[in-house]
Amino acid sequence: MEIDEAREVRTTCPYCGVGCGVLAKVAADGQVSVRGDPDHPANFGRLCSKGSALAETTGLDDRLLHPQIHGFGSSWDEALDLVASTFSQTIAEHGPDAVAFYVSGQLLTEDYYLANKLMKGFVGSANIDTNSRLCMASSVAGHRRAFGSDTVPGTYEDLELSDLIVLVGSNLAWCHPVLYQRIAAAREKRPEMKVVLVDPRRTMTSDIADMHLAIAPDGDVALFTGLLAWLGQHNALDRAYITAHTSGFGQALFAASAFNLAGVAAATGLSEDELGRFYSLFARTEKTVTVYSQGVNQSSQGTDKVNAIINCHLATGRIGKPGAGPFSVTGQPNAMGGREVGGMANMLAAHMEIENPEHRERVQRFWNAPAIAGKPGLKAVDMFKAVADGRIKALWIMATNPVDSMPDAGAVEAAIKACPFVVVSDVLAETDTVRHAHVRLPATAWGEKDGTVTNSERRISRQRAFLPVPGEARPDWWIIAEVARRMGFDGAFAHETPAEIFAEHAALSAFENDGERDFDIGAYAGVDREDYDALAPFQWPAPSPGTPLTPTGHQSTRFFANGNFYTPDRKARFIAVRPTVETRITSDFPLILNTGRIRDHWHTMTRTGKSPRLSQHIAEPFVEIHPVDAQRHGIGDADIARVSTPRGEVLVRALVTTRQRQGSLFAPMHWTDQFAARARLDTLTASLTDPVSGQPALKHVAASIEKFTARTFGFAVTRKRPATMAADYWAVARCRGGWRVELAFANDDVDWTAFAGSLFDTADTEVLAYHDREAGQHRIAAFDGEHLTGALFIAPGPVAVSRGWAAEQLGEVHASQRQRFRIVAGRAGAERPDAGATVCSCFNVGVNQITAAVAAGCATVDAIGATLKAGTNCGSCRSEIRAIIAANRIQAAE
Ligand code: SF4
Repeated sequence: MEIDEAREVRTTCPYCGVGCGVLAKVAADGQVSVRGDPDHPANFGRLCSKGSALAETTGLDDRLLHPQIHGFGSSWDEALDLVASTFSQTIAEHGPDAVAFYVSGQLLTEDYYLANKLMKGFVGSANIDTNSRLCMASSVAGHRRAFGSDTVPGTYEDLELSDLIVLVGSNLAWCHPVLYQRIAAAREKRPEMKVVLVDPRRTMTSDIADMHLAIAPDGDVALFTGLLAWLGQHNALDRAYITAHTSGFGQALFAASAFNLAGVAAATGLSEDELGRFYSLFARTEKTVTVYSQGVNQSSQGTDKVNAIINCHLATGRIGKPGAGPFSVTGQPNAMGGREVGGMANMLAAHMEIENPEHRERVQRFWNAPAIAGKPGLKAVDMFKAVADGRIKALWIMATNPVDSMPDAGAVEAAIKACPFVVVSDVLAETDTVRHAHVRLPATAWGEKDGTVTNSERRISRQRAFLPVPGEARPDWWIIAEVARRMGFDGAFAHETPAEIFAEHAALSAFENDGERDFDIGAYAGVDREDYDALAPFQWPAPSPGTPLTPTGHQSTRFFANGNFYTPDRKARFIAVRPTVETRITSDFPLILNTGRIRDHWHTMTRTGKSPRLSQHIAEPFVEIHPVDAQRHGIGDADIARVSTPRGEVLVRALVTTRQRQGSLFAPMHWTDQFAARARLDTLTASLTDPVSGQPALKHVAASIEKFTARTFGFAVTRKRPATMAADYWAVARCRGGWRVELAFANDDVDWTAFAGSLFDTADTEVLAYHDREAGQHRIAAFDGEHLTGALFIAPGPVAVSRGWAAEQLGEVHASQRQRFRIVAGRAGAERPDAGATVCSCFNVGVNQITAAVAAGCATVDAIGATLKAGTNCGSCRSEIRAIIAANRIQAAE
């Protein structure tokens, strides 16, 4: 592909479900730059820290560029023939359910569509599931129970139009930052707008919250059934709406009334006063949107939580109206696209139902398929259990890393290792999953591929290629179509462009629809390549002109405006849910571990881990613990902590903070064996799932914590990534000019000079060293002429060297001996104060600089921005800056 240097290409961010528009450009020297697309309706030009750093993730290092069989290079023909013949043979010998695809919300809709078509219509099994099962399956199940369809009723605009936003289990500030910024901006314009945060942790999202309800883990069903009962008791129901448009209200209210306020308080850990204030605010605010994400979905009661929330909106008639409704926001860039094509084991394409024989017959006829899956396939957790016990004998994993992200990840890894035939399509040559593949298929990455994605508000946007395809990488849809053809399904997989696939997907959505199904993009069934290239973001439904107005009135952008739903009687269903109080903790595992995400990393860091900028905000795996628990378990701040569950243990840095709820721990799920010694968090989580949705309960795991007694700590910077790190604890992160490494050792009996040589080049370099064996202090630096190849700092306690300063030295010239000795001293000169831990990734501004600016009189985030530029680009750090200002004010007042 030729690059037009002057041209900015309009594409979409590949990270979260906000689905921001991006303008990307490649300069003559190959440098990629990105900025927010001012015309995209999801972000209007904004990008968060991850989106802003996309250009740093497009390099070709670590890429898988050629097909491989058993680790050796092969031609595409050899690899595709082997995949096709092995799948065909396995099906012939053991039946269609002996094979499975495990796919991803990272796939584009066109990739997803073909994978689903191949498995459900041509293999004849529904054994295709997706990592979106881990993200929002409970929302899908809750929608289908209540609405008769997987419909997200509202739009982002509703957030700005509302008078009350209730955020449940959702750290928007870090996980959906541009939505958070839109809410923050709306609040600035309309200060009367209220925000309530329901979250066990005081996350950065609390920055915009008028009320933070620090709820007990899994207390959400109790909170919202309590709200339903309270609405009933306080005459705050919309009785006319309930009668005209819903069914099952009586049973739901009866179930909700089983708990009185004191019972709800006990189940939620909230006071009756807090509950009363929240309930009364909800009751009196007509324009209320309840936003929820993983904190609701990733639970063994996830579907009930979703329906408990929806019940309250139905009871007040607050759905399908501007500024009102329940709103599930999705984690992944194309979780919604996956739902549209039926990329989950229990769904059919185009929002049709696998249990419905008419739907199955219709899809089979449309595809002219030899078969159609007759029953739901195995959901993710069950799929890997079937791999483990040998029922699944051939597995194709596309664009995801289950060895790190599935619950009970150790067992999943063992299952994959034991599987007779594993194919992985990926962009990276080495991930914790790719390493176990018999066949590795190189896929195109963001910036190289064309297709569409759907964001959380049902908006379909194009991802467009702006980079040449490297090596022999190929788009996922092409790989799937090639395998399908080689399995003998030529005609149905003859697509030559993603435009053809999209047109077919659109045609299926409209096929014999007549308004009976919510997902209809029939208006695009006739797109050709040119239309597709020019496709502007649009929201579904988008039926073809002339399609009759549907029973739900769904030709508007907001669903259910006329009170009709997709159930047989057109009424929304209340679901009678009962709070269950679960105690998973035991005397051996007395704490509840909550897993989640951080601001600047994404999933298993396969992309964000490439960015020096994003790797500086938090460069190590960590666990948050409340000070009381820390004291009880003998954990000090910055200690290395061993967190254990019956399934495994990890070693992570302890962060002692009152933001954490007492009795609970929080740890991020991003770190893998590629970035840390022992920090694969999902080796701790259980394969316990929600009984309706099959979504794993990743946020409520009984765990214990103890201090890992390190006798020696270390920190290193190196120009090249170390090949080995023989330490009990290590965590490696990119920095500008190289890598930074945190280390800890159970003993101090180490030859530190030899160890330094294992981290960075010391041969043929000038090595400067300082050793104080008695004090346990060692510093070793190696110079290749005027350039630092690496430096190692060893101490008996956490190393007190400025990380930012040390990392910067990799890119600086050290002409004089004095400059070189300064590195061995581990100190910047007096003219170079330590910036401290990075807060603003865009302008590399640290906490110490912000603290100094506050001391000098900067009292607002804008004043900090004017002085240091921090927070003036993507804005993702503004809540942290505000927290630093507040903390310094409190300190000054004490
Ligand atoms: Fe990408 Fe950030 Fe927008 Fe999400 S909020 S789509 S990560 S730029």
